[in-house]
Amino acid sequence: MKPELCTQCQKAPELCICSDITPKDSKLHVLILQHPQEPDHEIGSARLTHLALPNSTLKIGLSWRNLAAVLGRKEADPTRWAVLYLGSGVKGEDIEKIPLQFVSKKGTPIDEPDNLEGIIILDGTWSQAKALWWRNAWLLKSRRIILTPQQKSLYKELRKEPRRECLSTIESVAEVLELLGEKPEVSQHLRELFGKLLDKRRELLKQAKTQHVAKTI
Ligand SMILES: [Zn+2]
Repeated sequence: MKPELCTQCQKAPELCICSDITPKDSKLHVLILQHPQEPDHEIGSARLTHLALPNSTLKIGLSWRNLAAVLGRKEADPTRWAVLYLGSGVKGEDIEKIPLQFVSKKGTPIDEPDNLEGIIILDGTWSQAKALWWRNAWLLKSRRIILTPQQKSLYKELRKEPRRECLSTIESVAEVLELLGEKPEVSQHLRELFGKLLDKRRELLKQAKTQHVAKTI
């Protein structure tokens, strides 16, 4: 029998950290598009990010007509939104030393727009995120951000599939918000939550191993 999942975070009770969530306000809206095959009930972090940020939207699907349709608004101007870009090929020197860079469609560095309303994150494995990118043509109208993580992800050994930027969704959001001038405590809380989730996951793996050993004796 499958264990009941938490109705809020949709994780098994052993992995639920809902009681640790203290929702944090952010100026920028965070829009997370999740590939339908992604929902990772173990260490997936999209829903956790959404629960921790009241000013966010989580949508699960493959394609949407336009930004307004995703957000459920009458109108939305994609040029006031920035998507965490998957591609490489950025032109410019020392780009890998710059934690966050806005780039043009041609990949040349541009200044940070001063009228940014929100950021868009594609949640999934590399190929899932790429599928989302190609199926949503309106994303091409958004600004692009290239994130070069300055810290290693916390989840190293726990994730089997290679992930874009090698950071989890919640870590990417934390990094981008901080670099775009949001209050540091917002990002700090996101990272703390992810750390707690990973601790629970490691604990669970340890227990599973011990039980396995016990069974084989
Ligand atoms: Zn929960």
